[in-house]
Amino acid sequence: MSIIIDGNKIAQDIRQAVREEASDLARRTGIVPGLAVVLAGDDPASKVYVGRKAKACAEVGFLSREYKLPADVGEAELLALIRDLNNDRRIHGILVQLPLPKHIVTDKIIAAIDPNKDVDGFHPANVGRLVTGSPLFIPCTPRGIMELIARTGIELSGKDAVVIGRSNIVGKPMAFLLLAQNATVTMCHSKTKDLPAAARRADVLIAAVGKPHMITADMVKEGAVVIDVGVNRLENGKLAGDVAFDEVAPKASAITPVPGGVGPMTIAMLMKNTLDAARMAAV
Ligand code: NDP
Repeated sequence: MSIIIDGNKIAQDIRQAVREEASDLARRTGIVPGLAVVLAGDDPASKVYVGRKAKACAEVGFLSREYKLPADVGEAELLALIRDLNNDRRIHGILVQLPLPKHIVTDKIIAAIDPNKDVDGFHPANVGRLVTGSPLFIPCTPRGIMELIARTGIELSGKDAVVIGRSNIVGKPMAFLLLAQNATVTMCHSKTKDLPAAARRADVLIAAVGKPHMITADMVKEGAVVIDVGVNRLENGKLAGDVAFDEVAPKASAITPVPGGVGPMTIAMLMKNTLDAARMAAV
């Protein structure tokens, strides 16, 4: 029997703990964690994500501010807003919703965020700290996956972990987190020669590609832990992961469903990172 990892329940537990810790912080120091979310343009998916983040902030008792800018906002204007937020004592976390409109150089905007307020963990200073083993802010999705693994009681030391996908927001930070827990990590991507063979070696398989149901049962070792990061909208409107859940689940020792696996953890970890940022401001 494989364990179906309940991301909704684990995320709810984390949000509840964050709420209690935030209320304790406010009682002791008067500091209420504050998150600023910057949205440029009107990408429908981004709007949904920003709305969810504001709702999550309200639930855990944080201050949240949304900055909605037009799609043709200038880079200078966006940089000026980031500077203001860097200096705003009520704001502890700054999140710029990606993707940004094409005329804006994303790296430049991320580099302008104060690394101590970079709750997405995308600033080069935070990426460097993660890679060198002294992380400050860890990107929310990989951090959430590590929580799912830990709370399911899965030991990583000495295990073969295979990460499929090498993006800066999921695949790369994921690989370094697994390495830090002494897993032997292989990273795969679109140029990997024999993906099924690489995937079959995995004791822990992380799929972060964005291709519905591409991980089939023949690519999974008996007893593997399978974490599905993919969020793919099918033609029938339903959400699907990167893993063909129905055929893979019977082979896996533990597996995350989509929806209800990794997804809910991302926002829960954003709340945790923002709480951590507020705590840092309190000392
Ligand atoms: P990206 O598009 O940035 O990266 C996709 C990665 O998959 C790339 O490294 C690419 O390789 C690799 N890839 C593409 N095709 C193949 C293939 N056929 N075989 C092997 N590797 C392949 O995606 P993200 O990392 O941003 O997101 C991945 C998925 O996770 C998406 O479905 C996204 O929606 C989801 N997601 C979910 C989140 C959540 O909260 N649940 C949060 C963030 C993302 P290459 O580098 O060579 O191009």
